[in-house]
Amino acid sequence: MSAESNQEIDIMHGLKTVLAQIEAAVSRRSKDLPQVAPRLVAVSKIKPAALIIQAYEGGQRHFGENYVNELAEKACDPQILEKCKEIKWHFIGHLQTNKINKLLGSPGLFMVETIDSEKLADNVNKQWVKYRKDEEKLKIMVQVNTSGEEAKNGIEPSESPKLVEHVLKNCPNLDFVGLMTIGQYDYDTSKGPNPDFLTLAKCRQEVCQKLNLDINNVELSMGMSCDFEHAIELGATTVRVGSNIFGARPPKKA
Ligand SMILES: *Cc1c(COP(=O)(O)O)cnc(C)c1O
Repeated sequence: MSAESNQEIDIMHGLKTVLAQIEAAVSRRSKDLPQVAPRLVAVSKIKPAALIIQAYEGGQRHFGENYVNELAEKACDPQILEKCKEIKWHFIGHLQTNKINKLLGSPGLFMVETIDSEKLADNVNKQWVKYRKDEEKLKIMVQVNTSGEEAKNGIEPSESPKLVEHVLKNCPNLDFVGLMTIGQYDYDTSKGPNPDFLTLAKCRQEVCQKLNLDINNVELSMGMSCDFEHAIELGATTVRVGSNIFGARPPKKA
C-alpha cells in the first residue's frame, strides 16, 4: 500500500472517530444547555493541501488556520479551489492589522473567531466592504482570554459585553455569532470542570443579559483535541480539532 493511501485511511478514521465522539458528548450534555449541535472545525495548520482535500472528500467542510499567510495560501491553492468548492475557512489565530486585507481577500473565508479589540473590529468592519459578496456580513467571534495568561490573546472576560456591544452598534458589516477561547492547555479534568470553559459560558450569560440577546443564538467556540468532548458537555457549539484528525504536529521549537 502506498504512503498516500495509508494517510487517507488515517484521516478518514480520525474524522469518523471525532464525529462519533462529538455525538456521544452531545448526548451527555446537561439538558438546560442550548441544544445546538456542535460544529467541527478541522484545524489543518502545518498540514498540506492534499490532506485537507481528503478530509473534504470525507464530508468535512469547516477548516481552521491560525496564520493568515497559511490560510491565504491554502485558500488559493488551485487543487483546493477546484475540489473543495464549499470549503469554509475559520481564522483562529492572532490577527495583525497589516494582515487584515490578506485574510479578508481569501476565497472561502467563513468566520474570524479572534476579534479581541474595538480597534480590530473597526478595521475588519471597514475593510470587509471591499471583499464581501451580495452585501453579506462577515461572521465573527469575540475572543476571550479566560485563563488570564499574558501569552494568550483575547479580551478580559469582564470586558466582553462592552466589545460585543461595540460590534453590534458600530460594525454593521460584521455578524456577531459568539465567543471563543483557547484556555490553558493540559487542564486535568479529574479536578472538575475546566474553569476556562465555565468562564466562557458565564461570559455568554452576561453578554446575553446585558445586551438582550437570545442565548440560543450565541455560540461558544472552545475545546481542542485533548478536551473537545469535555467542552461539548459544558456547552461548546464549535470545537476546533487538529491533531486527532490530521495526526500530531511536530513540537513547537522553544
Ligand atoms: C492548533 C489549534 C487548535 C487545535 O489543536 P489540536 O490540539 O491539534 O486539536 C485549536 N485552536 C487553536 C486556536 C489552535 O491554534
